[in-house]
Amino acid sequence: MSLQKSWVESANSADTDFPLNNLPYGVFSSGGGEARCGVAIGDMILDATAAEAAGLLTMRGGPLLNAGVWNPVMAAGADVWADLRAQLTALLSHGATAQAALAETLVAQADVDMLMPMQVTEYTDFYAGRQHAENMGAILRGSAELPANWLHIPIGYNGRASSVVVSGTPIHRPNGQSKAPDAALPSFGPSKRLDIELEMGAIVGTPSPMGTPITVDQADDMIFGYVLLNDWSARDIQGWEYQPLGPFQGKAFGTSISPWIVTAAALAPFRTPTPQREHALLPYLASTTDGLFDIELSVLMQPAGAATATKLTTTNYSRMYYSAAEQLCHHAVGGCGMRTGDLLGSGTISGPSKSEYGSLMELSWAGREPFTLDTGETRTFIEDGDTLTLRGAAIADTYRIGFGDCAGTILPAAPMPHNAQDKG
Ligand code: MN
Repeated sequence: MSLQKSWVESANSADTDFPLNNLPYGVFSSGGGEARCGVAIGDMILDATAAEAAGLLTMRGGPLLNAGVWNPVMAAGADVWADLRAQLTALLSHGATAQAALAETLVAQADVDMLMPMQVTEYTDFYAGRQHAENMGAILRGSAELPANWLHIPIGYNGRASSVVVSGTPIHRPNGQSKAPDAALPSFGPSKRLDIELEMGAIVGTPSPMGTPITVDQADDMIFGYVLLNDWSARDIQGWEYQPLGPFQGKAFGTSISPWIVTAAALAPFRTPTPQREHALLPYLASTTDGLFDIELSVLMQPAGAATATKLTTTNYSRMYYSAAEQLCHHAVGGCGMRTGDLLGSGTISGPSKSEYGSLMELSWAGREPFTLDTGETRTFIEDGDTLTLRGAAIADTYRIGFGDCAGTILPAAPMPHNAQDKG
């Protein structure tokens, strides 16, 4: 694992998130112009839409790079993914003959807006972090004992694709129904316990038809890449609504993803095994694949007007109990069709110590233990104006594979429409 040198000088720095080894896929717009497919290289973006139009990139079955989203490439399958990555590596390598022509298609990341890299067709969120599940049990039920199914099933719920947004998109504090523990009846209003969940998102490239079970290895081959994912959560709304059918409005108001899809190919050198199981998984979930990745993750919080962000958490994706491939296999096994653009949230990623917890619910132990920011302010949950940022990178000796920030600022709750009574 060593740094591959590029003729784009900023891509050769040891601390760039986007060396030639990475080549993540995003969508950008210059000056409010059309959405264009781009590839991050150092502090620049290769305009892949322009490169394809100029004949510098040739896609099998193409053109595939002019849709303003990566879904056509994602649907085209692993051979096309490998071919595109090989072309990009050759074009951007130090000494490439196409350098002069390709330089015309580079734009500075600082000069563009990042848009959603894909159309999210479906969104499912899992609960595959053991430490998180044990912490939530201790907080909510007074016992860290896992639910009886947890060591056997990758637990999940079907979420909302309509509220998945790209990093930088502000999120309104949700209005909703909740019931305080000492209240006789529920009340309605802005959430008072607004939280994050530090997760990775796996993106399905090649689809699987309805009624067709897949193996874990097939599932692994269907995954196009990964993003950072913040599953914003309103704990008070969630706590009132979630039994017996699971999360609903407490999780439906916003899910943020990082702007760059880091491919499974770029992450291949960082694969790690799933942990030892005290119960072997049932045979349909059995696999020899090392389906997790060594990706260092952190969470930062910055109040409105503060000069600096405070790092709340540092943890690692390799701590998860189930891999995305195992989750995808389980998702499809009963007959559920999986689509190009299906997004699978890993579940909150928490490590064993408090400095590794991936949600404020855990960091403040349900609000009972406020924590202090570098500004001197304290927090239990998110205040209006706070910006929460997830960061992540797989780190080798001479390079890093980064994702770009996954950030969101919380706005006050949206005003309620007048109801019929008010209109009178
Ligand atoms: Mn979640």
